[in-house]
Amino acid sequence: MPKLTQADLIDLNQNFEERTPQELLQWASQVFGDKLAAVSAMQEAGSVVCHMLSTMKLGVPVLFVDTGVMFQETLDTRDRFIKEYGLNVITLRPKQTMAEQTKEFGILYLTVEGQKQCCHARKVEPLNQVAGQYHALVGSLRRSEGGKRAVCPILQVDTENSTIRINPLAMMTDEQMAAYIHDHNVIVNPLHAQGFSTIGCNRCTTPVLPNEPKRAGRWRHLGPWSVYCGINPADREAGAKQAIELPQDVIDRILGRETDFSI
Ligand code: SF4
Repeated sequence: MPKLTQADLIDLNQNFEERTPQELLQWASQVFGDKLAAVSAMQEAGSVVCHMLSTMKLGVPVLFVDTGVMFQETLDTRDRFIKEYGLNVITLRPKQTMAEQTKEFGILYLTVEGQKQCCHARKVEPLNQVAGQYHALVGSLRRSEGGKRAVCPILQVDTENSTIRINPLAMMTDEQMAAYIHDHNVIVNPLHAQGFSTIGCNRCTTPVLPNEPKRAGRWRHLGPWSVYCGINPADREAGAKQAIELPQDVIDRILGRETDFSI
């Protein structure tokens, strides 16, 4: 199978810096067709992407990983996207319930090493269940989140499940996102209004104080705030040589070699 490396995407990524999120979503829809899905954790940036997908009527399914220990507000937000935005939300789940996992391994999320194992089993592996079904996944990372995401590219190869990750909101600032949500009355997870700047599992997420970093509420019990679950390639170690395998015609369409899909 032909390979596509992160280095192959340098020119395209530079070109895309000037594009709006909607233009990037349109490009993705044209290039990947029914091999495109979005991934949302039902946080506010994901809400913006879901709203755009809904209003643009692109027919892109949304993948949601339900770890089995999500806040009810998060599940309710997912259900509102289905009902009010007409989105096809596909819920992915880990193999074991949290009770089964705890019985076998103990309470993993209480230690640094255990957190990695727990997040891999409950977040990364469920997404890997659809490996091969999609050539590209739309995410909602933004550089203004800081940390490892401060330099996240718009297009990134994801070696975990051999897809291209597309971050159409990479350049969107906090102010722009708040304005979009306000102007379009976007459905957002009500936990944001309760002080949660980012939202994950109920075991590992707390609200943050006004002066804390945005991700301070994630894995607070493990110390430094720069902890990630590993579901996003931007949060993992990456390099120009990282490569994924895709059909040649898909690579040609991505790089605009044989089509007029480039924008
Ligand atoms: S966030 Fe916590 S509970 Fe959720 S998968 Fe990761 S370690 Fe487990």
